[in-house]
Amino acid sequence: MKYLTVTDAQACILQAVKTLGIETVGIERCLGRVLAADILANRDQPPYDVSAMDGFALRSSDLAHGAATLEIVEDIRAGEMPTKTLATGQCARIMTGAPVPQGADAVIRVEDTEALADNQTKILCAVKPGNDIRQRAESMRNGAVVLTAGTEITPGVIGMLAMVKCSNVTVYRQPSVAILSTGDELEGLNDPFDANKIPDANSHALMAQVLSLGIAPVMLGIARDDPDELRRYLQQGLQYDVLLVSGGTSVGVHDYVRPTLEALGVEMKFWRVAMKPGHPMAFGVASGHDKENFMPVPSPQSSPASGRGGKRSQCEFELCSFVFGLPGNPVSSMVCFEQFVAPALRRMTGKTKLYRRTVEARLARDVKHQPGRTEFIRVTLHKEEGGYAAISTGAQGSGILASMAHAEGLMIVPAESHGLMADTYVTVQLLDGMSYQHEIGGEW
Ligand code: AMP
Ligand code: MG
Repeated sequence: MKYLTVTDAQACILQAVKTLGIETVGIERCLGRVLAADILANRDQPPYDVSAMDGFALRSSDLAHGAATLEIVEDIRAGEMPTKTLATGQCARIMTGAPVPQGADAVIRVEDTEALADNQTKILCAVKPGNDIRQRAESMRNGAVVLTAGTEITPGVIGMLAMVKCSNVTVYRQPSVAILSTGDELEGLNDPFDANKIPDANSHALMAQVLSLGIAPVMLGIARDDPDELRRYLQQGLQYDVLLVSGGTSVGVHDYVRPTLEALGVEMKFWRVAMKPGHPMAFGVASGHDKENFMPVPSPQSSPASGRGGKRSQCEFELCSFVFGLPGNPVSSMVCFEQFVAPALRRMTGKTKLYRRTVEARLARDVKHQPGRTEFIRVTLHKEEGGYAAISTGAQGSGILASMAHAEGLMIVPAESHGLMADTYVTVQLLDGMSYQHEIGGEW
C-alpha cells in the first residue's frame, strides 16, 4: 500500500466520522460543547428603551442653546418604572438600565452635569436625540434566532443562553474514547522502577490531548506484545466510540496491532502516512459488530480516568468504532493526534472548525529536508516586528519528548520541499489555547 499524504489521510478519516447524536445537558456542564439546535430569544432585551449611563434623562430640545438648568422631577432606578412624563425644562435622575421616561429623548451622563440646590441640575453641554439610550430589543428581539445550531459554546455563548433562560442545552454527544499503550518494554506510571524499561509516556500525553478537547478518556493500560493479550485489550477498546492504540503499528515482527485489529473485523483504511514524525499511523473502522461479544480485559493496569461510564454510543452510529493506531514514539504519537485524532474528535462533537489555527512565521534558521514526507518541526514563536519568528525547540528525534514539551507550534515543511532557507515564511500550527479554524491553513 502506498503512503498517503497527510491531507489525504485526514480526508479519509473525516469522511468516515460523523456526529454521534444529541443529548441535553445542564448549562453548567455545556462549556466547549456544540449547540445542536437553534436558540430563540424569549423576550425583547432590553424590554424598553433604557439608559446606557448613570445620569439624567431629558428632552434634547431643552439644550438647543447649549448648557441649561433643569428641574429634577423623579429618580428612576433600574428595575423601576417611571411615573412622570417630562415636560419642557424637566429631567429625571436615571440609573444605567432604568427605563427612559415619557417625554425624554436622550440621556446625559452625570459627569456632564453639575448638582445644584432645590432639585435642580445644570446640564453642561448639548446632546443629540437618542444619546446614551439603549433601544428596546437592541440586544435581542423576542422570537429571533440568537444562536444557531453548530455554535461552539464559549463563556459568551453561556451568557447568551442564560439571557434566554436556557438552563438545559441540547448539544451534540461526545464520543467515548479509550486509550491503550502496547509494548513489552513499557513500564506503567505506578509500576516498580526498572532501568531496562521504557516509561509509558504515551497513555498520559494522549489522555491530556483528549482532555484538552473536553473529553475524559478511559485508560485501558498497557498490553504486552502478545497476540492473545493484545486481542483481549483491543476487544475491550472496541466497545468505545474511539480507540487510540499507541505502538505496535509498524512492520516489526512483534507489531501485532494491525493484524489483530483485522482479525477482530476492523477494516483498516490506511496504515502509512508520508509524514515525519509519524509514518506508521493507522486508521480503521469497526462497523456492525456486536458489543455483547466483546470480552472485558481481566485486570487493566491503569485505573480508568473519570470518564463516561457508558461505552459506545446509543445512536445511529452505535455499531461503529474508530481505531487510531498511533506510532509508539512519543513525539510521533502526539503529532499524529494533532493531525488526525483531534479533527476527528472535533467533528464527532459537532464542531466545524477542525484544524489548529495557523500563523505564518519567519524561519529563523535554514531547515534541511529531503522531498517525500511532510515534516512537523516543533518550534517556539517569538514576536518581532511584522509578526513572529519560528525557532526549533532543539533535537527533533521522534523519541525526544522535550521537543514537544517546549513547543508552542508545529512548523510545517511541505512534503515536496528540498529544504527551507532562513527568513522564508512558513506555516505554523499553534498548539496553545483552544483556537481552531475551518481551513487547514497555508499551502502544504
Ligand atoms: P513501536 O511503534 O511499538 O515500534 O514503538 C516505537 C518506539 O516507541 C519504541 O522505542 C518504543 O519503546 C516507544 N514506545 C512505544 N510505546 C510507548 C509509550 N507508550 N510510551 C513511550 N514510548 C513508547
Ligand atoms: Mg512496540
